[in-house]
Amino acid sequence: MSTATVEIPTHQTVTTFLDAPRKVLIGGRWLEAASGKTFPTYNPATGEVLAQVAEGNSTDVDRAVTAARNAFESGPWRTFTASERGRLIWKLADLVESHLEEFAQLESLDNGKPVGVARVADVPLAVDLFRYMAGWSTKIEGHTIPISVPYMPGARYLAYTLREPVGVVAQIIPWNFPLLMAAWKLGPALAAGCTVVLKPAEQTPLSALRLGELICEAGFPDGVVNIVPGYGETAGAALAAHPDVDKVAFTGSTEVGKLILRAAAGNLKKVSLELGGKSPNIVCKDADLEASIPGVASAIFFNQGQCCCAGSRLFVEKGIFDKVVAGVAEEAKKIKVGPGMDPATQMGPLVSDEQQRRVLGYLESGFSEGAKAVVGGRKLGDKGYFVEPTVLVNTTQTMKIMQEEIFGPVVCAVPFTDVGKVIQAANDSIYGLAAAVWTRDVGNAHRIAAELRAGSVWVNCYNIFDAALPFGGYKQSGWGREMGHDALELYTEVKAVTVQL
Ligand code: NAP
Ligand code: MG
Repeated sequence: MSTATVEIPTHQTVTTFLDAPRKVLIGGRWLEAASGKTFPTYNPATGEVLAQVAEGNSTDVDRAVTAARNAFESGPWRTFTASERGRLIWKLADLVESHLEEFAQLESLDNGKPVGVARVADVPLAVDLFRYMAGWSTKIEGHTIPISVPYMPGARYLAYTLREPVGVVAQIIPWNFPLLMAAWKLGPALAAGCTVVLKPAEQTPLSALRLGELICEAGFPDGVVNIVPGYGETAGAALAAHPDVDKVAFTGSTEVGKLILRAAAGNLKKVSLELGGKSPNIVCKDADLEASIPGVASAIFFNQGQCCCAGSRLFVEKGIFDKVVAGVAEEAKKIKVGPGMDPATQMGPLVSDEQQRRVLGYLESGFSEGAKAVVGGRKLGDKGYFVEPTVLVNTTQTMKIMQEEIFGPVVCAVPFTDVGKVIQAANDSIYGLAAAVWTRDVGNAHRIAAELRAGSVWVNCYNIFDAALPFGGYKQSGWGREMGHDALELYTEVKAVTVQL
């Protein structure tokens, strides 16, 4: 790790943005929080305060929901044509793209991720998602349906369905891809014609707030998008429970996902959840090891391992186990860990001291149960929240580190002898978000893909995302699919209209 403090010229607009206290966006206006309170957001590379942000509470949530309700029921948004909605979303994409460097730096400063990664992944993917969803605005269609109505002999009907926006939507997002998660949530909701109250994670509110400014600049009518930064237990919980919210979409831990579900029961709001994972990554004997070894390493180490779909359980066929583990360990050693704003950095710090403690706690638990580190296993440096990229062996199915989501740069490697058994082991998890298999045998690849209980299966690749591809979980990894046209189902209701002719 580079220990010297790197002086990176920060984008002028980023500095200006950080210097002014960040507010709540309600009904098209930037306001202080109702309580007048603010909370700090930190730079995880240094632990220093980056900016002060308004601390939204249930009063702010109430005001934001009222603004969203008004915008939905009686604002100009309701009369926008589908094409007008699409053009606005496209304009937002253009605006984000023209501020790419600024967003990349904000994301790196607030979350810790390498700025080079944010430049090529987080920001362009958010732009692409908005463009993809802009296109859907004009393609949300119903059907005409031939009906027979046996108890009305002789009568004739025209029946058709309409797909209408679900209404006021609460969106609660995590800190691992702050801008991208905002895009995944906002894109389809706006394409469908909903209005939104968005709550970013307390650790990373900045890029969503900057996005809010661009949403105003693009010309979305007041109240269509409201943004309330604040804490989960207060602002988040108030949103999930709010009786005038029609739908809540959440990404985060499975534990909080269950709280969201309970809170939503009061008015039976629609719920979609994108939760945790413990994704299996299976390397067969016949795999191309030159591609799979770096692939396996990036499956776990990308974004400091803070990916819900991280390939955190590595199953390797006997015979190549030692070679693959040694290869992944070599890849781990090569990773340049440092502050995200250093252009040479390949892995940044974890997002917070809490996350660092959580990951170190899992490492301790693994060691106490008999796991061994081939590489890594400790924290790095005494400033910032760094953890070494870690490869663990001697891990068994019942260990806590094999069952629970670590959400850090830690992979557990296990050898296997039989493909049937490895599928069983891969599926032996409460989660089912993603999975991968590395093999040159096409038949085997498709058989394994079919048997893995996961929402995404990658063959000879990992972490391949596209706005057109649905993403979401089986089992306790979630409800519903984001991205692709499936995402529109989360934000639309179907109305059946029947006309007697
Ligand atoms: P988290 O608590 O689930 O946070 C996700 C979002 O939910 C944040 O905006 C959070 O707000 C909010 N929230 C928290 N409690 C809430 C409540 N009672 N009602 C409504 N909203 C609430 O995640 P975390 O504590 O930051 O991370 C814990 C673990 O979650 C990680 O170690 C990882 O395993 C998992 N995680 C998964 C994903 C994913 O993409 N699936 C992303 C992040 C974390 P605040 O941040 O303001 O508290
Ligand atoms: Mg921060």
